[in-house]
Amino acid sequence: MGVVRYEGLPFVARFRWNTGKIMEKFYEKFAEKQIIAARCENCGYTVVPPRMICPKCSSKMDEKNLVNMDGRGVVLSHTVVRKKLDGKGNFIDLNKPEIVAAIKLKGADSQIFVRLGEVEAEELKPGMEVVPVWAEKPEGKPSDLLYFKPG
Ligand SMILES: [Zn+2]
Repeated sequence: MGVVRYEGLPFVARFRWNTGKIMEKFYEKFAEKQIIAARCENCGYTVVPPRMICPKCSSKMDEKNLVNMDGRGVVLSHTVVRKKLDGKGNFIDLNKPEIVAAIKLKGADSQIFVRLGEVEAEELKPGMEVVPVWAEKPEGKPSDLLYFKPG
């Protein structure tokens, strides 16, 4: 994969990480409101989003390693985000603060960082169970997964 440059950042960003076919499947499954992981046949490590190389033992993985998650997860930690970047290197205030959490999906060994909704930061506790909230008509793209909520 070649070097990809993105406009709108205050620096030149180069990405050399090829997500490959396995990552395409990850987003395709969003159309079915389904989250998938890759489970290593060698060591059993289960990673979300799926990767082509096991992060634990470096074994190669492909589509035969993909497994369905039920989508439920638990909150490991969270933070409240009050500002965002405007694409020119400036911070701008969010109208409404957002909660970003590290969660671990049931059956996964890795964690993902997601936005939490329908909950106040004061109500959050580590170990709280959360479920995904999907777009009404998912199309198999990242924006299909709106956020996670307690459930
Ligand atoms: Zn492994």
